[in-house]
Amino acid sequence: MDLLRAKKGFICDMDGVIYHGNVLIPGVIEFVDWLYKEDKKFLFLTNGSGKSPKELQLKLRRMGLDVDESHFYTSALATAKFLGKQNPGCSAYVIGEPGLFNALHDAGITINDFDPDYVVIGETNNYNYDNICRAVKHVLNGAKLIGTNTDTTCPSEHGIIPACRALIAPIEISTGKKAYYVGKPNPLMMRTGLGMLGVHSEEAVMIGDRMDTDIIAGIESGLDTVLVLSGVTTQENIHQYPFRPRLVLNSIADIIP
Ligand SMILES: [Mg+2]
Repeated sequence: MDLLRAKKGFICDMDGVIYHGNVLIPGVIEFVDWLYKEDKKFLFLTNGSGKSPKELQLKLRRMGLDVDESHFYTSALATAKFLGKQNPGCSAYVIGEPGLFNALHDAGITINDFDPDYVVIGETNNYNYDNICRAVKHVLNGAKLIGTNTDTTCPSEHGIIPACRALIAPIEISTGKKAYYVGKPNPLMMRTGLGMLGVHSEEAVMIGDRMDTDIIAGIESGLDTVLVLSGVTTQENIHQYPFRPRLVLNSIADIIP
């Protein structure tokens, strides 16, 4: 525990770690107070691509937690950063929510439904047959297929709903091309997150509620790892995986000394 509290950088998953749906997990406000008091660097990281950092900031503020928008990092931002570096000034045909469009725009990537360099897919409610046909046409014409994250489903108020990977599947099947996915557990997202914090991997910890995204991402990127049991994973589930986190805590509240 002392090793954990001495870290400089804290990367925290959001759903199941900070909040459940629209309710903060008890102790989160005190945890964030502690981060500020100890002058820690921290990021709230999500594989979701629909919301911008500003929208996430407002969402947390409505729940009673106030943090600057610079502390949020989404798979949309990671995807935009990746494409901006790979191919500066490139263009993309995009299926996603405003958070993804804004991130791409801010990285200098233009929207193109004629001859795009990339087809980029994130979660969206605006997903239809016409979108899929356009995406398939562009990929068959040589556009590279990119997914913001590998999640197949995500929780919602209406139960389990299809997420990014499920939305890309029809395009992969129709074109025979496999997408490249940027979000967790791709170490790319962790490394750019560390870059934003300005800390080295050995000075940072990844705190998450999922073994198959958060914990494996932390391990593969060389961070300390903490699994919290306030989300989807139970003590029994942990043993199904061939790897383990360094620490297992009931919730993020346990970190406050
Ligand atoms: Mg989570």
